[in-house]
Amino acid sequence: MNNFFDFDCRIVKLLKECESNLFNRFDEIDEVLEYNSSKVLKAFIDNKISLSHFTYSTGYGYDDVGRDRIDSLYSQIFDCEDSLVRHNFVSGTHAISTALFGLLRPNDTLLSITGSPYDTLLDVIGINNFQSGSLKDFDVLYDEVNIFSKNFSKDVLLDKAKRAKVVYIQRSRGYSNRDSLTIDTMKEWIDFVKSAKKDIIVLVDNCYGEFVEKLEPTSIGADLIVGSLIKNPGGGIADTGGYIAGKKDLIELCSNSLTAPSLGKEVGCSLDQNKKILLGIYFAPSVVASAIKVAALASLFFERLGFETSTNSKKNTSDIITVINLKSKEGVLAFCKGIQHGSPVDSFATPLPWDMPGYDSQIIMAAGTFTQGASIELSADGPIKEPYNVFLQGGLSYHSSKIGLLNAAQFLLKENLIF
Ligand SMILES: *Cc1c(COP(=O)(O)O)cnc(C)c1O
Repeated sequence: MNNFFDFDCRIVKLLKECESNLFNRFDEIDEVLEYNSSKVLKAFIDNKISLSHFTYSTGYGYDDVGRDRIDSLYSQIFDCEDSLVRHNFVSGTHAISTALFGLLRPNDTLLSITGSPYDTLLDVIGINNFQSGSLKDFDVLYDEVNIFSKNFSKDVLLDKAKRAKVVYIQRSRGYSNRDSLTIDTMKEWIDFVKSAKKDIIVLVDNCYGEFVEKLEPTSIGADLIVGSLIKNPGGGIADTGGYIAGKKDLIELCSNSLTAPSLGKEVGCSLDQNKKILLGIYFAPSVVASAIKVAALASLFFERLGFETSTNSKKNTSDIITVINLKSKEGVLAFCKGIQHGSPVDSFATPLPWDMPGYDSQIIMAAGTFTQGASIELSADGPIKEPYNVFLQGGLSYHSSKIGLLNAAQFLLKENLIF
């Protein structure tokens, strides 16, 4: 690894040790990879994907065979009735917002069971009284319980579920300290809320979760899943976009919310995105496996360097995120600089903390990525506040990402924060 770089020998030695401790974990990851690669390839074959699906439409996009075939491919991969895969979703937040506005009507209740949702959704729901076009502005009610919290009560959940129309579950840890929700555990909760109310709609924020396990939430009772194409299922190749997948009648509601009532899925030109979306999901299982290996390695490596980390190296996880507690502002800055300077794009740039809209402290982001903000690529970010956690994710290539981790350690060493 030092043929082209000049890392401190102790750092390189430690990383190699950590790597050799992870062979069993890597075998588990490869087994999931093999399963998911077969699942994806079988869907390509069954859906007779061909060169003709790479051609593209403009304007209204009527009869776009590639776009429609991608929806059907996703439905097979995600084991569900229908899908809406579109580059027109500007982000994961947009896809989730589209789904929520598609499903909920005035006086309906949305119930989150994994506590407060991901930051960008707070204003979509209107949790902090944001009015301008939020669900709250349309008199949609919101309630939450947190199955991870110590004082969580099953009786309270049962009671609240009876009154809710949509139950919201976030699979990934997002920017919180909790673990991701594994498919096995998620199934227990879905069964539980459905026992309270049979026709409740279960919507899963699947961001960062696709292909981390063999099954997806739609295989274990979720009615809809939503995600971003610049995360796992885009495989680092899709330029932009998102997807919603699940029950056919619900997808129709979501498609009317994305385009216009009655236009639904029939419109929306694909420009030149069909091939990239297809190539992206073809690669996705292998890219996700790289990202989970990076997560496992980072978790063990930075733990050995003296920092507390999330337990990706030991335990099954259901997302690709590693949390590293760098203990100080200097630690967070050095770590993010190291990741940025070890990236393929914009390696010469130095990330600085800035006031991002919607956050209560400054945020620093390292993302030397081919696609702007694509966190399936090696990237790290964290708020500049106690306890000084950084969230690391991605890595299109395991071997290149290792260099990124070594560089982060080298920058910590330069600041005398390790050894
Ligand atoms: C990324 C993410 C989202 C959506 O975020 P965007 O940046 O809008 O794509 C939502 N929920 C979780 C858990 C996420 O990780």
